[in-house]
Amino acid sequence: WIGLSVRMSFDRQGISSVQAIARDVTERHELERLKDEFIAVASHELRSPLTSIRAALSLLDGGLLESRPERAKETIALASRNAERLMRLVNEMLDLERLESGSEVLDRMPYELAEVMGQAAETVAAAAEAADVLLIVRPTTLTACIDPDRMLRVLVNLLSNAVKFSPRGGCVWVAAEKGPQGGVVLSVRDQGRGIPAGQLKSVFGRFRQVRASDSRDKGGTGLGLAICKSIVEQHGGEIWAESREGEGSTFRIRLPR
Ligand code: ADP
Repeated sequence: WIGLSVRMSFDRQGISSVQAIARDVTERHELERLKDEFIAVASHELRSPLTSIRAALSLLDGGLLESRPERAKETIALASRNAERLMRLVNEMLDLERLESGSEVLDRMPYELAEVMGQAAETVAAAAEAADVLLIVRPTTLTACIDPDRMLRVLVNLLSNAVKFSPRGGCVWVAAEKGPQGGVVLSVRDQGRGIPAGQLKSVFGRFRQVRASDSRDKGGTGLGLAICKSIVEQHGGEIWAESREGEGSTFRIRLPR
C-alpha cells in the first residue's frame, strides 16, 4: 500500500478505516502478484513443448525424412507427444480458470458414492493394468450431495496419480466412510513413493510437482490437484494429503452433509 495518501487520525474509527483500506489494497496487490506469477509459469510450461515441436519441424524441413527415415519417425512421434501435452495443458488451464472464476455452477444431487467410485476405477483400469497395479474399490452404501461429473473428475485425478506413483505389484484403494457431523470422507490410498512432509500442502498449488522430472517421466502437468482442490472447495469440502515417504500416500476429501 505504498503510495496511498492517508492521514491517520488517532480516534478509534479513523484507525480502523485506514487499516481497512490498507488491507484491501494489499490483497489486490497480492492477487496481481499471483496472476503475474501464474502467467510467467504458464508461459514457461507452454513454451517447452512448443519449442520441441518447432525443433522437430525444422529437422523434418531440413530433409530428415529422406536422409534418416527411422530418426524422422521418432521425431514425429516426439512432436506428437508434445502436441498432446500442449493440448492437455491448455485444457486444464482453461478448466481451472473456469472453476476459479465461478462461472460454472455445480449440478449437485444426492448420489451413491459407490457409483462414482466404480466409474472412476473403470476409467483408470487400463492404466492400472499396464502399470501392474491392483485397484480395490471398497464397498459402501453411503450417499452424498455431489456434482457427479465433477466428483468423478476428482477421483479419476487422484486414482491416476496413485497408479502413476505406485510400484509394480502395488495396490490402490478407494473408500468412503462416514465423516464428522453427518458428512462423508472419501479416500484414495497408494503404496507409492510418498510425498515429503514439507510438500503435502504445496502439491495442491498450480504447476507444483515434487520432482522436476515428474512432468517428463510421468507425463503430468502439475494442475490436477489444483483442479481437485477447486472442485472439492466448491462442494464446501476440504482435501488434504497424508503420507509417509517411501510407504505411500493417502488423499482424503471431507464433504459436508
Ligand atoms: P501431475 O499432473 O504432475 O500429476 P498433480 O497436481 O496431480 O499434477 O500432482 C502434483 C504433484 O504431486 C505430482 O507431480 C507429484 O509430484 C505429486 N503427487 C501427486 N499425487 C501423488 C501420489 N499419489 N504419490 C506421490 N506423489 C504424488
